[in-house]
Amino acid sequence: MDREVINSSVPSHWYNLNADFPEPLPPALHPGTREPLGPEDLAPLFPMALIMQEVSTERYIEIPDEVRSIYAKWRPSPLLRARRLEQALGTEARIYYKYEGVSPAGSHKPNTAIPQAWYNREEGITRLTTETGAGQWGASLALACALLGMTCEVWQVRSSYDSKPYRRQQMEVYGSACHPSPSDLTESGRAMLAKDPDTPGSLGMAISEAVEVAANDPQAHYSLGSVLNHVMLHQSVIGQELLVQLETAGEAQADMVFGCVGGGSNLGGLSFPLIGQNLREGTTTEVVACEPSACPTITEGEYRYDFGDVAGLTPLLKMHTLGSDFVPPPIHAGGLRYHGMAPMVSHAVNLGLMSAIAVDQDDAFAAGVQFARTEGIIPAPESTHAVAGAVEYAKRAAADEVIVIGLSGNGVLDLPAYQGYTG
Ligand SMILES: *Cc1c(COP(=O)(O)O)cnc(C)c1O
Repeated sequence: MDREVINSSVPSHWYNLNADFPEPLPPALHPGTREPLGPEDLAPLFPMALIMQEVSTERYIEIPDEVRSIYAKWRPSPLLRARRLEQALGTEARIYYKYEGVSPAGSHKPNTAIPQAWYNREEGITRLTTETGAGQWGASLALACALLGMTCEVWQVRSSYDSKPYRRQQMEVYGSACHPSPSDLTESGRAMLAKDPDTPGSLGMAISEAVEVAANDPQAHYSLGSVLNHVMLHQSVIGQELLVQLETAGEAQADMVFGCVGGGSNLGGLSFPLIGQNLREGTTTEVVACEPSACPTITEGEYRYDFGDVAGLTPLLKMHTLGSDFVPPPIHAGGLRYHGMAPMVSHAVNLGLMSAIAVDQDDAFAAGVQFARTEGIIPAPESTHAVAGAVEYAKRAAADEVIVIGLSGNGVLDLPAYQGYTG
């Protein structure tokens, strides 16, 4: 097909860490039988191509031409050296950041929204349903549906729906509909409202609503913006580009990688190609997942099978979890308010391939402000957790260490969240 942008450095394949894990990932289980899930169990919600990616152990999977061509509108995303931040910190370590805020939605999420919409359209689906927290995922899927001629219906966590109207307006500009969750449009939403009419909502609740609607409409499928294996796969474009860019910068390896984690997709995408390289080639990159102390899924959750949603409609996933009925406080980094964690990220932590820290919201914003005042980019509230982790580490880093920050998005639509932290 005709390339919209000619750019040979967009990766041609996605990388799958499931090919290199020293032990296989524990399978997803059927919520009723607790037996490993078969492809047919997922067919009402997902297209077969994505189901096959979900269970694939192939190391590389080819990116379809049209998807790659859309990626090329903003990919490869830049890798930048944070010299002014280094100076401000007085560190002799070299700090880089991989900036995903250059996508049309302002975050890494279109990396998976585009292929998810594309594979659904290939199988004749015209409508996608989904949930969104802060709104970045809803906006990203709305963008993908607009570019691929589909429609999209989004359930947004109530607290964010009320406090972040710009994301909803972004979805509407792209031609999608956005409802607050819980809503009275679904059975599960009505049940949750009956229990607690003033609930701020949660991703778990919104997932139940979006899944219910897709399951009842043969033209519709459900789409999830994080957590699942095929999402980690799509996001691997970030880390694969990073490997090439570090080499171009003359760096032998990233010594430390910091990324924020909500469901785990931007950090998984950034770090899995590097972890794969550790496992295959003996590099020694250390990866640190930075989560909010208000929703400490890895550092304080249990590693066990749990549901992805509140109503118990989703498969059981082996993951770090605070419990599927956990309702996190309405913190500013709405994209990090999820009770669970990607099974692949959880497995990597469990195998000692990655570690995790919890970051206080105040420390995160202080680091975000310092980053804005030195590097110019205002990080998304989520991304400030990764900045804080890296800044704290850089203060005691050895000279010549290479530190990489996953800057998952920009905070321009989240400026109100910075209020009170700019003094
Ligand atoms: C959604 C979001 C996150 C959290 O999701 P992950 O799946 O953990 O990446 C982080 N940063 C930004 C900018 C987001 O929009």
